[in-house]
Amino acid sequence: MEIACLDLEGVLVPEIWIGFAEKTGIEELRATTRDIPDYDVLMRQRLRILDEHRLGLDDIQEVIGSMSPIPGAREFIDWLRERFQVVILSDTFYEFSLPLMAQLGYPTLFCHRLEADESGRIVNYNIRLKDHKRQSVIAFHQLNYRVIAAGDSYNDTSMLGEADAGILFKAPDNVIREFPQFPSVSEYAELKGEFVKASKRRIEL
Ligand SMILES: [Mg+2]
Repeated sequence: MEIACLDLEGVLVPEIWIGFAEKTGIEELRATTRDIPDYDVLMRQRLRILDEHRLGLDDIQEVIGSMSPIPGAREFIDWLRERFQVVILSDTFYEFSLPLMAQLGYPTLFCHRLEADESGRIVNYNIRLKDHKRQSVIAFHQLNYRVIAAGDSYNDTSMLGEADAGILFKAPDNVIREFPQFPSVSEYAELKGEFVKASKRRIEL
């Protein structure tokens, strides 16, 4: 049996924090794991900036409600789910992702949770499990699944390395250069082709 593991932001939906930075005009919030590989450093910076600007969960959710998946993402994930068991492994938070998951037909999502106080001010973030993308692949292996994984950024590379096959999708040049061991594609049609190639089964495109 095979499981397909996908990253969410940058692969199926736009970077949520960049969308939020554009709407609010707060340039500092544009930073992602592409810029700051240490996720805790990045999140502490985000929470500090939100607090400085007195922005709460409602403001963020309003922006996310106006966002759409990347064009072609819904068709791609429907194609993939017909052929593989699919689990999305993301470093986003359930509180953020719901409006976008609805537009993708609610595929299975493993991610993290935010902690807000009664006023909606985000007071903390709870990482469900450190390095959870890689840990999920290890757990799927223990369950006797073969894993094919795709992602776009630094926080995906341990998952791609642990998987039986790892694929870079829409990755920036620096990630492609640093991880030449993974095939790299940028269109959903090519990504389908990589999943077909990586599978041990005969998959129809
Ligand atoms: Mg990503």
